[in-house]
Amino acid sequence: MRQSNLLATTLREAPAEAETVNHQLLLRAGYIRQLAAGIYTYLPLGRRVLRKIEAIVREEMDAAGAQEMLMPSMQPAELWKASERYEVYGKELMKLNDRHDREFVLGPTHEEVITSLMRGEVSSYRKLPVTVYQIGTKFRDERRPRSGLMRGREFLMKDAYSFDTGWEGLDDTYSRMYKAYQRIFERCGLVYRAVQADAGAIGGEGETHEFMAISGIGEDTIAVCSACDYAANLEQAEVHTGAEAVQRNVSNLPAAEKFHTPGIRTVEQLEQELRIAPEQVIKTLIYQGGGQVFAVLVRGDHEVNEVKVRNYIGASEIALADSGTVRAAASVESGFVGPVGLSLTLLADRAVAAMTSGITGAGERDFHLRDVVPGRDFTLEHVADFRTAEEGGTCPVCGEGVLHFEQGIEIGHIFKLGTKYSEKLGATVLDAAGQSNPVIMGCYGIGISRLMAAVAEQNSDGQGLIWPAALAPYRVHILQMSVQDEVQTAAAEALYEQLSKLGVETLLDDRDERAGVKFKDSALMGIPVAIVVGKAAAGGKVEYLDRRSDSKEVIDITEAVSRVTSGQNG
Ligand SMILES: [Zn+2]
Repeated sequence: MRQSNLLATTLREAPAEAETVNHQLLLRAGYIRQLAAGIYTYLPLGRRVLRKIEAIVREEMDAAGAQEMLMPSMQPAELWKASERYEVYGKELMKLNDRHDREFVLGPTHEEVITSLMRGEVSSYRKLPVTVYQIGTKFRDERRPRSGLMRGREFLMKDAYSFDTGWEGLDDTYSRMYKAYQRIFERCGLVYRAVQADAGAIGGEGETHEFMAISGIGEDTIAVCSACDYAANLEQAEVHTGAEAVQRNVSNLPAAEKFHTPGIRTVEQLEQELRIAPEQVIKTLIYQGGGQVFAVLVRGDHEVNEVKVRNYIGASEIALADSGTVRAAASVESGFVGPVGLSLTLLADRAVAAMTSGITGAGERDFHLRDVVPGRDFTLEHVADFRTAEEGGTCPVCGEGVLHFEQGIEIGHIFKLGTKYSEKLGATVLDAAGQSNPVIMGCYGIGISRLMAAVAEQNSDGQGLIWPAALAPYRVHILQMSVQDEVQTAAAEALYEQLSKLGVETLLDDRDERAGVKFKDSALMGIPVAIVVGKAAAGGKVEYLDRRSDSKEVIDITEAVSRVTSGQNG
């Protein structure tokens, strides 16, 4: 490709709204342009990178036995109502009506479409297992699209769906997909981690893993063990049960006693004004969700993990109750709410259940209670792990290592769905005995456009992007220093032709620009190798630049060609 013809305008400055490195550089280097918030055009350079990613994904999916197909983005709303996800997905589901006022959605994912298709296509166990995949556009009406391709409203995904007759079959398929994902992310040059995760709105009964690109800009926090291979999304990272079993002799303990705490509503105030240690406090938080109002109790130094609570009560969403709901349920404003005498379901974190006694709100304005004994002064019917794991805490699996936190960008997610969709949408097969059973499903996603952003985020320096060779839009960038110089023109053209014939994707900067501009643009675009054709071309020499190591060397043109073709760089 001749750069004089390439639709790729580089920008000296990124627009102010671009905050992350990948967003700034992909805009500045001429890979993407924004059409509307969270909606992007991929310019030729960006499209080439996407194609490289897609090719790797296709190769690994095909090798894992999956078959490619393509399903429509526009999906009848009835399917989403039948799976009961129309409401659960909420406002993120992009909805539209056709001219006959029939309701449709623009698919954020395709479980409904594929399951209803399978209902008609596969009726016998003999046709299973089968795994299909597609690469296509998805839609999600994000409240706050941001970070460029990282969280878009229209984006490119690979989604795959597997169908097995039993859970053992699903286990096999799942582990095949897991391995295929590892190969895909390795080939894309990503620093990543596979972590245990929460199934969220997709749902499902079994295991689920997220693949996280490690990056400071990641929106997810990952808890990683220092000793074993445990790694989990903080949303669902378990808390070690270790030292939380307690033997308490209730008969020796004093009765709970009310004390005056005017204006003291928070754990911090109790600590600062009354010198009460946070671990002595039982925090009572009123939540609503799943059609009920309930209370969650955690120690004053702990945080409620809403994902764990949500999963425990089986609600799709929960939220802290508003002040009116709190007053109606607890007869007092938040800050003085306590579990004693509270007629709500109480969900107590294990650490609360293990306290000998604690300090709580008294359920009366400007008063707290001390010597409150869990199990004596309030019920302990619902005790479980309801708190967020802490950095420095003990690993829940090996019990020896210490958890540390990392930030990650979710680039892939695999789920064991089981029969969640096949039951609701009637996708059954006959087994060998002629019995009808729902098929056992799995689903497997990779954010293709987000992966491009994650690779860009992990591979850059002060000058611009640094693509791994496998994803670079071009392998070699020839920079002709002076287009007026006939010797240089002859040498650059010959080199361009030779590399092209050898199948090396080459971009020739034949623009009538100053040398400084060409060097800057080349570094910004991040093509792995630049070959500079300048004055030394008269003597058969070029400058060979390796983008990643930032090294320069003057060598013979023939040597430059053999280096490129032997793949020593990038
Ligand atoms: Zn561990």
